[in-house]
Amino acid sequence: MAKTSEKCSFCGRDKKETRILIAGLSAHICDSCVQQAQIILQEELAAEKPKEIQDYKLLKPVEIKKYLDDYVIGQEEAKRIISVAVYNHYKRINHASSIKPGDVEIEKSNIVIIGETGTGKTLLARTIAKMLHVPFCIADATALTEAGYVGEDVESILARLLQVADYNVAAAERGIVFIDEIDKIARKADNPSITRDVSGEGVQQALLKMLEGSIVNVPPQGGRKHPEQKMIQINTQNILFITGGAFDGIDKKIANRLQTSRIGYKIDKKHDSIDKDNLLQYISPVDLKAFGLIPELVGRIPIVTFMHTLDKATLRRILTEPKNALIKQFTKLFELDNIKLTFDPEALDFIVEKSVEFKLGARGLRSILEGILTDSMFELPSKGTNKSLHVTVPFIQEKFQKTSIARLKVA
Ligand code: ADP
Repeated sequence: MAKTSEKCSFCGRDKKETRILIAGLSAHICDSCVQQAQIILQEELAAEKPKEIQDYKLLKPVEIKKYLDDYVIGQEEAKRIISVAVYNHYKRINHASSIKPGDVEIEKSNIVIIGETGTGKTLLARTIAKMLHVPFCIADATALTEAGYVGEDVESILARLLQVADYNVAAAERGIVFIDEIDKIARKADNPSITRDVSGEGVQQALLKMLEGSIVNVPPQGGRKHPEQKMIQINTQNILFITGGAFDGIDKKIANRLQTSRIGYKIDKKHDSIDKDNLLQYISPVDLKAFGLIPELVGRIPIVTFMHTLDKATLRRILTEPKNALIKQFTKLFELDNIKLTFDPEALDFIVEKSVEFKLGARGLRSILEGILTDSMFELPSKGTNKSLHVTVPFIQEKFQKTSIARLKVA
């Protein structure tokens, strides 16, 4: 039999026109046909995936909080509020099937976490998702635009969730989406442009539709690169949206509100002792409106909580206490090379102090540790047996001087 010509048997492209041409027994397939086939497969498999998935063996709020305690240090109020919210949310889903017509229908409660960057908002959302074994994805509100503009459509968030859920629509429909930097799409009252909507309000409207629970047509590959792709319908009714943002300056709105209510007739005894250093604890949905979120959106995110700024004591605990604490991670990393890594407690205090001094927060702890341990991680693996490294304050001081962080101060 004559040898098949070196062409793709599907699209007919010549070998020269393809990047890779894979040979089969009596046929060939090119790279772009493989990609096309992959898209078709995903779409077909998504349609085939079982619609029923098992009920969650749901932990009680106290147990959820306990689980969170293993990973997120401090932030007690946020952990309590979120434990209850997540419990109620999944309780509602688990019992949705037994609701009879006329029964009370429990609406879902999305969450907003307000707090500076690096205080553990993403960590909290991620830990919840890990505990529940549900699909979880993170989206950045700043990348979102209204449909038709350059940027990501709001639907792309659901496309990502669907990908994480391995195209199992039923699983995606019970997932958790964390939308970061939601404050960046707030309407700016002092925006000089009154003729054009540069305010993010359009994005808020688009988000609103998704948050309130609707059927959204999702392009499975995300983006608009494949206009021919089949849309997958996702019902967002049972997707839990956790949003987060720094809401810079919202403390002034809170202060204003508290101040006004004090001047009024209703003088509240509690308000007489306002903790001015931590105004976030008085946050309420009204402040989100004042900040520039449209009332409808605020109404769809009824659970408002906040994260404390991390103080020295919390940072110190973050170093050693979480299940995957940094010190535990580095100790393990060294142990894999048979190196026993230990730290003087004062050395750990020093790391925390530097992180505070350079305003690096919890993220800074890792950078500092990486910086001071680099030399040892470079040299020690090639040294003999019975190796150990005991980190003391003088050791850190010497190594820290060499790090890029220390140089920040000179600049
Ligand atoms: P955010 O989303 O608020 O910007 P992240 O959740 O991304 O902050 O936190 C950055 C990193 O800092 C996390 O990966 C984690 O290692 C650490 N971290 C921050 N806050 C905490 C906390 N309360 N407990 C434990 N680790 C924390």
